[in-house]
Amino acid sequence: MRDLPGAWRRTAHGAGLLDADGRSVPTIFAEMSALATRTGAVNLGQGFPDEDGPAEVLEAARAAIADGVNQYPPGRGILDLRTAVAEHQSRFYGLGLDPERDVVITAGATEAIAAAILALTGEPDDEVVVFEPYYDSYAACIALAGVHLVAVPLRAPGFAPDLDQLEAAVTDRTRVILVNDPHNPTGAVFDASVREHIVRLAERHDAIIVTDEVYEHLTFGVPHVPIATMPGAWERTLSISSAGKTFSVTGWKIGWMTGPAALVDAVLSVKQFLTYVNGSPFQPAIAAALRLPDAFFAETAAALHAKSRLLGAGLADAGFTVLAPSGTYFTVVDAAPLGVADAARFCRELPQRAGVVGIPLTAFVTAGHRADYASLVRFAACKRVAVIDDAVARLRRLRDQSATTR
Ligand code: PMP
Ligand code: GLN
Repeated sequence: MRDLPGAWRRTAHGAGLLDADGRSVPTIFAEMSALATRTGAVNLGQGFPDEDGPAEVLEAARAAIADGVNQYPPGRGILDLRTAVAEHQSRFYGLGLDPERDVVITAGATEAIAAAILALTGEPDDEVVVFEPYYDSYAACIALAGVHLVAVPLRAPGFAPDLDQLEAAVTDRTRVILVNDPHNPTGAVFDASVREHIVRLAERHDAIIVTDEVYEHLTFGVPHVPIATMPGAWERTLSISSAGKTFSVTGWKIGWMTGPAALVDAVLSVKQFLTYVNGSPFQPAIAAALRLPDAFFAETAAALHAKSRLLGAGLADAGFTVLAPSGTYFTVVDAAPLGVADAARFCRELPQRAGVVGIPLTAFVTAGHRADYASLVRFAACKRVAVIDDAVARLRRLRDQSATTR
């Protein structure tokens, strides 16, 4: 297997995720899922649930297909879904959106992130500030836009940014501050002081804040507060979320972006040439999903929290130091107590050693920064309880292996 996770390189044809020989390489998530399939290991790598979401949502998509909702939807997405997104932002966050102008439907959060970066940057000196470790598509899109990534480190165990480092990272060259909260891969939820700082810095340097809130409903006893609700933030913030995680439909790729009409329009001008539109029969189904009662959202978070605790207890029992998450599908552990200094190598060997797949945090950081994350591994908790039980029973072998080698 190649060294993780490949690199963005310029080619005669542009930029792409390429290995040293110039060949295209899959993302870390695709690679680790393929490794799990090949070895029969329990896949706690790529973050996708192994159970379907609400039956009425699945039925709504089936009904839409049967009813002939199968051609191109409007460029901004169907009005009913945009209205449901606006209702959702009002119900959970008190935001008042105009569904005609302040909302656009995208091919998952991934397309919204790509379109936002391409729309809001472009000059060679432009910079995008991201919190590292970061979701893999951020660095890819920043490279595709031909601009610069500036990383603010999130360090174990708490993964909160240092406010002085954040302040130093944001300058007049900053076009976008890209904020993923709740945060993949660390499971951190930012506190009010971080949010306030981000808004103040964006105002001072006239930057746009782009938020990735795909785990907005998956926090564990702490509220999710969108930056767009902070004083002074609305007019310079684009908020992104998607249906995949909340409703367990990661393959449907229905996302949305909300914000002031002028910013949404700027992004739409790019988005229309990426996918144009997507997922017509899924759009009414996600409108129904967004209108599910509050209890659905509370129960979904509580169920994931219980799984996350189960996984965390099992990982601790196997000998890892667990860095307990405040939300998301993921739990990060430090494997150093098991004698691991190179988590990338450890993850490559894990299917053989214990029959489980996890993802090294080095896959989420810029090459020069990997030493700071070298013994950290991310495991996904969004699996059935029986699967988590099986995985932790397998991982206990590591404790026994390390005891016999001491
Ligand atoms: N952002 C983060 C932080 C994610 O973990 C993911 C993974 N689903 C995405 C964006 C992509 O979301 P979508 O599948 O809706 O494109
Ligand atoms: N968001 C998922 C994760 O972090 C993976 C999505 C993907 O495969 N691109 O595991």
